[in-house]
Amino acid sequence: MPDLASGITLGILGGGQLGRMSALAAARLGISVVIFCPETDSPASLVAAKTIIAAYDDQKALTEFANSCDYISYEFENIPVETISYLETLKKNAVYPSRQLLEVSQDRVREKTFLNRLGIETAEWRALNGKDDYQTLLKDLPFKDFIIKTSRFGYDGKGQIKSGGDLDAFFSQHKNAAFILESMVPFTSEISVIIARDVHGKTETYGSMLNEHKNHILSKTTVPAALTSAQSEQAIGMAQKVADAVNLVGVLTLEMFVHQDGRILANEIAPRTHNSGHWTIDACAVSQFEQHVRTVCGLPVGASARHSDAVMLNLIGADIRQAQDYVNRENACVHLYGKHDIRDGRKMGHVTLLTPKT
Ligand code: AMP
Repeated sequence: MPDLASGITLGILGGGQLGRMSALAAARLGISVVIFCPETDSPASLVAAKTIIAAYDDQKALTEFANSCDYISYEFENIPVETISYLETLKKNAVYPSRQLLEVSQDRVREKTFLNRLGIETAEWRALNGKDDYQTLLKDLPFKDFIIKTSRFGYDGKGQIKSGGDLDAFFSQHKNAAFILESMVPFTSEISVIIARDVHGKTETYGSMLNEHKNHILSKTTVPAALTSAQSEQAIGMAQKVADAVNLVGVLTLEMFVHQDGRILANEIAPRTHNSGHWTIDACAVSQFEQHVRTVCGLPVGASARHSDAVMLNLIGADIRQAQDYVNRENACVHLYGKHDIRDGRKMGHVTLLTPKT
């Protein structure tokens, strides 16, 4: 097992706020972080020991990166799979989570196929190859309301359209894309579970967490979510199944719908820490970010128990101006990501409000 006392260096691909919070958690453990990303002044690089600024297909820079780290991970799912494959050839048993998880979570058709094969229920869905395919499919579709999503590279509701929307415009905007068509789930709430799994297969989970969105962007997470204990156990069991199936080393998040009839349906897998788990920094001895750092560095997963209940509020765009008020509020933990350019829809920071555990 790696020795914390002798010093570990972790490389993280991606420079966003998730990388930043992982780097901060690493620093607490005396672990140095090297960030690899194409952008200058990224939120993560502002708190990391070193940053390599290069494109994800720059093999010379990737080699330098691999040579400067003991372990390598990533902080978002749109890292090219080829980048991970290349790094895996340079560093055996030191690049986590696995490529398989990345491949599954980058493609919605693959993801839904994978989930259903595990016996995990999702919305009904069909793979769709464009407008002509859509006309054929529509003829015997057993449901009326649906949502079409690009199969790859969608996030925060981008690359999606609901039945009744301007489908012609949508298909011409996404000309050569592959799509998934999903039945519209009449859900009462959206929830998530985060699971961390170490090299020995030991797991810890956070959740279930209740997530509320505004304009398709997570706005608020409440912990604990008001679910029956059977629903909560089911949601955690589903995340556990996914983690075991990909032999996870690292952290993953399962996003789910609570159907009006009480069923829990999986929607999406994120192969990483998640916005719905930011409260764990302030309400748990070991946060999701520390779990990420620990597990990918071959260290044991930590206890995920929560000492407080929490509400996490995202500060999106101009909401960052509210930070000044929150710093004066008791039990409010303010986190800003070092982004200076305020833009609509941009995640600038978050606040966690703590209350005694119920
Ligand atoms: P996604 O990118 O799949 O996370 O979708 C973004 C948001 O769209 C979700 O958080 C839901 O609010 C909504 N959504 C996505 N898929 C469905 C679905 N099949 N039924 C109902 N709402 C959905």
